[in-house]
Amino acid sequence: MNSKKLFLLLIALLAMLVFTACGSTEEEPVDSGSDEATTAETADTDTEEVAETAGEGYSIGISMPTKSSTRWISDGESMVQFFEEQGYETDLQYAEDDIPNQLAQIENMVTKGVDVLIIAAIDGTTLSDVLQQAADQGIKVIAYDRLIRDSGNVDYYATFDNFQVGVLQAGYIEDALGLADGNGPFNIELFGGSPDDNNAYFFYDGAMSVLQPYIDNDQLVVQSGQMGMDQVSTLRWDGATAQARMENLLSAFYTEERVDAVLSPYDGLSIGIISSLKGVGYGSDDLPMPVVTGQDAELPSVKSILAGEQTSTVFKDTRELAKQTVAMVDALLSGEEVPVNDTETYENGVKIVPSYLLVPISVDINNWEAALIDTGYYTAEEFE
Ligand code: BGC
Repeated sequence: MNSKKLFLLLIALLAMLVFTACGSTEEEPVDSGSDEATTAETADTDTEEVAETAGEGYSIGISMPTKSSTRWISDGESMVQFFEEQGYETDLQYAEDDIPNQLAQIENMVTKGVDVLIIAAIDGTTLSDVLQQAADQGIKVIAYDRLIRDSGNVDYYATFDNFQVGVLQAGYIEDALGLADGNGPFNIELFGGSPDDNNAYFFYDGAMSVLQPYIDNDQLVVQSGQMGMDQVSTLRWDGATAQARMENLLSAFYTEERVDAVLSPYDGLSIGIISSLKGVGYGSDDLPMPVVTGQDAELPSVKSILAGEQTSTVFKDTRELAKQTVAMVDALLSGEEVPVNDTETYENGVKIVPSYLLVPISVDINNWEAALIDTGYYTAEEFE
């Protein structure tokens, strides 16, 4: 081989080497599944490392309405756990459904200089002043589960699809009574949530979007004639108030008639309603329980479903809501885009609050284990 040939051969070899090198760089992520996995794992590990310390140096004030309902206890516990896992400090307070108490707790958090406030309001209209103080100090605010109204100082809203909750409750009644097949007429009574909780209107409106056509065509009859949130609401979601109202309805309108369904927006009300019904003999062979809905999948109500008293509930996994809220705070504090999936629905009187809506699910005797035990929300022992 003369030197010219040797030179050409070397050039060719060099060209091949460069070509192969370029090719492999471009193709690697596409054709090598294992390499992709490694890349993904590395990325995950990196994210986890960042995430575990993402909260260091930040403190979060968490203001919950009450411990009288277990869902809020679970919300609070989950948030504290998830925030602390990432290095945040937390200050969790419950206000026992007392508005001045909640205001004082939030004021205290503002004075202490938390970085973010997470608030499930007792009365969604009472926080404007304290939220102005928070805004003046640069504190971000996330409305948790319940919208905070009449304030421009609400940055984001994390909740479930509240209208859909009502649709699920009423849809359950529709199916159970066979309304879509034309069955009826049936008697129904309607209960609403607390008039100072924005959610209560969404639940009611969602439910009525299903029930109203059947009321209009007389497949459903509201013997009391009590309809609309101004007539059916239940201040502070109080079970005893619902129980007393149900007793009045039964004695005034159901001595000759039987009630076939009760729209109840929350398990705590359903318990009261059921005890009024049992008080006048419902739950026997002669007088079976009406369909009674609920919300929150609280332990006593799931047990009541298993005992054949309450008929259904709506499960909103509080762990998921807590997780979503932590993700929103992470993004907010690191200057990233905050995850939202609804920028139209939640107008609070001053602005539309960008929201993340999670999906509620209907639970009854047929799917309670899959929804509540298999997911670890409750343990099987809690039902023994
Ligand atoms: C929540 C419901 C709860 C109700 C009573 C509402 O704001 O969305 O989950 O049942 O308050 O605590």
